[in-house]
Amino acid sequence: MAATISYDRNHRLILSGLECDCACQHRMPDQDIYVGEDILPDLPSYIERRKLGRNCVLVCDRNTYPVAGERTERILSDAGIKVIMCLLKRDGDVDPDERSVGEVLLSIQPETEFIVAVGSGSITDTCRVNAARTGLPFVSVGTAPSMDGYTSAVAPLLLRGLKIHRQGPCPEIICCDTRIMATAPDWMIAAGVGDVLGKFIAKADWKIGSIINDEVYCPVCGQIVTDAVNRLIDNVDKIKAKTPEGIQILIEGLLLAGITVLIIGHTRAVASVEHNIAHFWDMSELALGHRAPCHGASVGIGTLMVWPMFTRFAEEDLSKLDLDALRRDRMDRDQRVRWMHRTWGVENGDTIMEENPGDFLTWEEQERRIRRAQERFPEIREVIRELPPVERIRGTLEKLGAPMEAKDLGISDEVRNISIHCAKDYRTRYTLFKLLDECGLLKEYLSDYPLNWD
Ligand SMILES: [Zn+2]
Ligand SMILES: [Zn+2]
Repeated sequence: MAATISYDRNHRLILSGLECDCACQHRMPDQDIYVGEDILPDLPSYIERRKLGRNCVLVCDRNTYPVAGERTERILSDAGIKVIMCLLKRDGDVDPDERSVGEVLLSIQPETEFIVAVGSGSITDTCRVNAARTGLPFVSVGTAPSMDGYTSAVAPLLLRGLKIHRQGPCPEIICCDTRIMATAPDWMIAAGVGDVLGKFIAKADWKIGSIINDEVYCPVCGQIVTDAVNRLIDNVDKIKAKTPEGIQILIEGLLLAGITVLIIGHTRAVASVEHNIAHFWDMSELALGHRAPCHGASVGIGTLMVWPMFTRFAEEDLSKLDLDALRRDRMDRDQRVRWMHRTWGVENGDTIMEENPGDFLTWEEQERRIRRAQERFPEIREVIRELPPVERIRGTLEKLGAPMEAKDLGISDEVRNISIHCAKDYRTRYTLFKLLDECGLLKEYLSDYPLNWD
């Protein structure tokens, strides 16, 4: 049975058809997610339903305050909820850094019972880590359909200018008022779409992981994500026009992608090599003292960059691989450490290697994977042929006026080129890029992205 979504009469999202007999552990998400037009006034009843209490800290910034923060404060106060307003960084744009996290923490009082985050990525993540440290539940009032992290359980944050990740809870209540979200600027709408388009790659890589390494693939989560992204592409005109229906389709796509993380407890269905590229750009820009580029925009561009490698691989002839040469030319451990330091930097490279100890393969394991790919190549080709033509992805982003190339985000050619070569190394998680590397094909596939090193 296919997963479907519907709503009860209070606009609460109901997911059904999640029955699945794959070997993943499935959890039914118990968050209350509301999507609808003009639903913000009902927020007190959502809070009442979960019995979160009558004392909160409301977190917003100078952009989200006029859009929804001020109204949320009034609606909660009128309902008898005591609100401590935390308007982050009044003088500039908010990053999810120690300053923002500290501002929230110092606004929390002994009597505070929950946190309300009014914003998108940065504000939600700032509140998420505070919720984790204080044990308080938190509520998300979404202001922009710009990323799929509303339902996430990990907060990307900045500490002393470096990107870090901290675990944190998912909001107990997510309130997406489509009228508020429709006021988001065009670039944020385009970013939300970019973040979802990357799911095609994530799904293909997951399936390739199941073919090569017998990784468990959850068909229900795979289908949730595919349906979400297809609906988005089919409705790009409504999304661009920010009609209530278009905004609803976009936010549903983002929420559904995120919900797969809650169901199976990992991000396999929503992030792969295209997200690794985006992450690399964040780190490179931060190291230069710049702000990190917009996440969804990076993911969209990363998706366009890696896509041709998939279509090309579908036409590959793996029978011609020279295994003796591959064995002779493979990186030894020292060479790999040097490679990781050179691409990711010493500190990040060491952390990545420490967190992914299985990533340096023995030749026996590499050979096993190559032989598996040779034996089951028709299945891999089938996975790739399920992808829509890349022109549809490009067309969707173009229509929304999204940035199309790394340089549009201020990323240098050098950083762009390094990022696509080392994106495979960020996690043990299997990807086509890892397979290309193991088959000795990656350098040739990436010849349009020269490293100009040796
Ligand atoms: Zn993302
Ligand atoms: Zn499953």
